[in-house]
Amino acid sequence: MSATVIDGRAFAAKVREQVGEHVTRLKEAHGITPGLAVVLVGEDPASEVYVRSKGKMTLEVGMKSVEHKLSAQTGQQELLDLIDALNNDPEIHGILVQLPLPDHLDEDLVINSIAPAKDVDGFHVSNVGLLGTGQKSMVPCTPLGCLMMLRAHHGSLSGMNAVVIGRSNIVGKPMAQLLLGDSCTVTIAHSRTKDLPEVVRRADIVVAAVGRPEMVPGDWIKPGATVIDVGINRIERDGKKKLVGDADYDSCAAVAGAITPVPGGVGPMTIACLLANTVTACCRANGLEEPE
Ligand code: NDP
Repeated sequence: MSATVIDGRAFAAKVREQVGEHVTRLKEAHGITPGLAVVLVGEDPASEVYVRSKGKMTLEVGMKSVEHKLSAQTGQQELLDLIDALNNDPEIHGILVQLPLPDHLDEDLVINSIAPAKDVDGFHVSNVGLLGTGQKSMVPCTPLGCLMMLRAHHGSLSGMNAVVIGRSNIVGKPMAQLLLGDSCTVTIAHSRTKDLPEVVRRADIVVAAVGRPEMVPGDWIKPGATVIDVGINRIERDGKKKLVGDADYDSCAAVAGAITPVPGGVGPMTIACLLANTVTACCRANGLEEPE
């Protein structure tokens, strides 16, 4: 068997196109331009790349993009004051603080100072609680992108066994909540899980969000299962730099029914969902109908 490759790049392009159409309607019918502010503290090279491409794509779909680049020495109060100003800026509908923050800053305090309605990353404790109780919330972008691809591939996910490997607040836990919301039977695995291969072999859907290059081999995968690979790991092989996921692509693709590649799978969907969340936040702020 050879797995269907779920093309995250093509899927994300379609989502961005829909976002762009919605932005055009908001401008033409209501004179409103959705605005996204991204805050970057410090000079982490990977974060700088993400922020740049978020800014570029925000502009491409016709939205307003604001970037605040602060020095690594920025104090807590200075950052909180900036977030407060963005919370009160009517032209800004989404605020994203790029993580990780330098160690001297309190990440929880910073994230929870973002107005929940503008928290387009969905990390504010209010949004986490709303998602957990099945209420309307801002949904974290990476798991949202995974869910959209799963729904597009399978239609209904009801009754499927899903195993999420990883229990972080930004990927594993919200992913599990979303799959539960779609009536999967969900197992969350982590570094203390006993007999992980056996746990994974029961899954119709495997979401790998571990941060360990190629950790999941094909012989852990039930034939025909869908593998969603969230991992982004930079490795060096044969003297060349390479991006790989948390699943061993070749051996998993030989057994799975469908798989997301790295790069070109979950990554592009994350930014597309960020743009979609910003439009949603803008519509909610203005009492307008939201995109589906
Ligand atoms: P974290 O490091 O926060 O969490 C990793 C999780 O994996 C933890 O829950 C940890 O368990 C678990 N884990 C680690 N080792 C093992 C093991 N040997 N067996 C089972 N579980 C294990 O990572 P993130 O959730 O932030 O990110 C995960 C991956 O996804 C990374 O590669 C990251 O780069 C990528 N990522 C990709 C995004 C995208 O847009 N595509 C966005 C965000 C992240 P424990 O809790 O017990 O320590």
